[in-house]
Amino acid sequence: QLRQVMQIMEWHLTEKELAVRLHVADITLEGDPNLLYQVWMNLVSNAVKYTPAGGTISIAARADDHTCTVTVGDNGEGIPAEQLPMIFDRFYKVDQARTRDSNSSGLGLAIAQKIIQAHNGTIEVASTVGEGTTFTVSLPCHNTD
Ligand code: ATP
Ligand code: MG
Repeated sequence: QLRQVMQIMEWHLTEKELAVRLHVADITLEGDPNLLYQVWMNLVSNAVKYTPAGGTISIAARADDHTCTVTVGDNGEGIPAEQLPMIFDRFYKVDQARTRDSNSSGLGLAIAQKIIQAHNGTIEVASTVGEGTTFTVSLPCHNTD
């Protein structure tokens, strides 16, 4: 699933000068592929949308004993600490003016969080203004390697 996302992302990257770093172990994610796909697409498209040209997006996936962890990071504009708790709210956008005319509804993260919770997983964010943002998704999984 992640590899599919990357193929679509390569298309994004032709539009914008961004570097991508991938560290994706060969793991199998468990759950509804179409729903999880929406999660990866939103996190990656956010990273693309909120990172200026010349930036770097890092995607990693790894599996521990019972947990698969996917991180999507960028070195873009970042999110102010006081706004971090709200970004998973429906229709919430940090910068209304800037996102008004672009294809932003402020729904992507709310939907992503619902999907991850429905898979008994967690989604967390760490961000520093001017430095970047990293989303970490943890899902139960049973990989044998
Ligand atoms: P949609 O996903 O519905 O098209 P959206 O991207 O604006 O619209 P969300 O994905 O829910 O909505 O994100 C909510 C807000 O969080 C965004 O409007 C943006 O302000 C902020 N945000 C999300 N991801 C990042 C990121 N990687 N870097 C900086 N800000 C971000
Ligand atoms: Mg979004």
